[in-house]
Amino acid sequence: MQGLLLVISGPSGVGKGTICRVLSQRLPNVYLSVSATTRAPRPGELDGKDYYFIDEPQFIKMINNNELLEWAKVYRYYYGTPRRPVFNALDEGRHAVLEIDVQGGLQVKRRAPDAVLIFIVPPSQEELRCRLLKRNTDAADEIEERLAWASREMAALKEYDYAVINDRVEDAVAKIEAIITAEQCRVRRFALKEE
Ligand code: 5GP
Repeated sequence: MQGLLLVISGPSGVGKGTICRVLSQRLPNVYLSVSATTRAPRPGELDGKDYYFIDEPQFIKMINNNELLEWAKVYRYYYGTPRRPVFNALDEGRHAVLEIDVQGGLQVKRRAPDAVLIFIVPPSQEELRCRLLKRNTDAADEIEERLAWASREMAALKEYDYAVINDRVEDAVAKIEAIITAEQCRVRRFALKEE
């Protein structure tokens, strides 16, 4: 059976990264997609592990060579998902998890209608601000920009398949595991043979 193409979106600071990390620790057959971005690395981020950090001409070359499954400009930077590793993982029967913004999520849905779109919802706007401030990785004006972007992102929720509130990481991950189980049981995912 092919793996599932899972898109995880939600506002910056909602905890998508932690959820994806815990999910990949709990499920052995998960491939966490590594995106390309023109953003500079934050302290501790590694090239090839957290992102492929590239410049704008390189990014545009990837678009033109059709190497990206989806791409978008988020805040001031470009982000995109390299196509090949995702489909290799799916063909190996692994689940491919894409932690991407809603513009990217909707592109994936158009190109791969079988994809499962999961939106991570913050417990509240105040909690989101606290988490962004605590994370302390972004300048104050970038935090405000990310909060403004967050309310725009919430508008895309209705296009997604599932909403998972992240008040406790373990609960959110358990819900995503339940979604995976349910999606694997969908009749349309079985290659039915004609009698
Ligand atoms: P950050 O700069 O905080 O790592 O990510 C900023 C936003 O870009 C997050 O919402 C993240 O999900 C999104 N993002 C990361 N990689 C990709 C990608 O490959 N494609 C798209 N469309 N969004 C991405």
